Amino acid sequence: MTAPKSPILSIKKLDVTFTGGSRPVRAVDSVDLELQRGEVVALLGESGSGKSVTLRSILRLHNEKKTKIDGKIVVDGTDVMTLEGPALAQFRGQTVSMIFQEPMLALDPVYTLGQQIEEAIRKHEPNVSASDARSRAMKLFERVRIPSPERRLDAFPHEMSGGMRQRAMIALALSCSPRILLADEPTTALDATVQVQILLLLRELQHELGLSMIFVTHDIGVAVEVADRVAVMYAGRIVELGPVREVLRSPKHPYTIGLLSTRGHGGKLSGDRLPTIPGSPPDLANLPPGCSFAPRCSKAEDICRQRAPEPSEIIPGHEVRCHLATA
Ligand code: SF4
Repeated sequence: MTAPKSPILSIKKLDVTFTGGSRPVRAVDSVDLELQRGEVVALLGESGSGKSVTLRSILRLHNEKKTKIDGKIVVDGTDVMTLEGPALAQFRGQTVSMIFQEPMLALDPVYTLGQQIEEAIRKHEPNVSASDARSRAMKLFERVRIPSPERRLDAFPHEMSGGMRQRAMIALALSCSPRILLADEPTTALDATVQVQILLLLRELQHELGLSMIFVTHDIGVAVEVADRVAVMYAGRIVELGPVREVLRSPKHPYTIGLLSTRGHGGKLSGDRLPTIPGSPPDLANLPPGCSFAPRCSKAEDICRQRAPEPSEIIPGHEVRCHLATA
């Protein structure tokens, strides 16, 4: 595909294998992805397709005793795999920050929201006084439009609604002025109206702050609303990558075509079965030879079962991993 100029994030040949079970499971396989400055890329796919595993690899959040990671992740010239100790801690928060799907699990229930944000600020910037950290936390709450910010800073996570907790989570993620924001299905746990509000807020903050963002979703509608480009993942691999509107208008991979036809069924891929694609996602520990999608693909030919397809740039900037894809 067309090499973007000077990406802020570059992932090359990323393989992630979980080794803690009875047999190793390759959850991410040969993922290449670049993120431009100020760009939003959505990772789209069913559960277990490798989206969140890819995202967490950027922050090295996996249990490294039970995970084998190969490949290269470079952020603004820094090789993430070489970071250790204080440099890794600084990288997490100051360079790259993450919004999780369920803020109740990410926020500490025994500290107020203000304490958690103030602590994050002072941990990364020890010279900031307690009162300055408090006033920065308040500005962050105002920025993410939490009403009565002063009072809400003294609330515990369980005292806030789901939408307000997610706003607080966004404030926490922004507290150390990261350049890259990773969002792991940040609206999935919210009701539809609040989802829209949070998406609009994220898009606005991304523009205002010039953030680069990778957004994991299984909701096609969300990918369209938020992203500039979309990477469709299946069985740990990116099978189609391109500008979101182009992929939507003219999908090339049979899996993407099937996904997009779920839009008429609500566009969400939360279940094991999709109404428009037969079969279930494959067992990652027992993938078929050749193309992983072949058992579900109505177009599969002999070559598909014999040899795994490599990514191919069929239109400038639009890459597909399928033997039969054409422009
Ligand atoms: Fe279908 Fe073959 Fe393309 Fe795989 S390579 S998606 S089996 S046509």
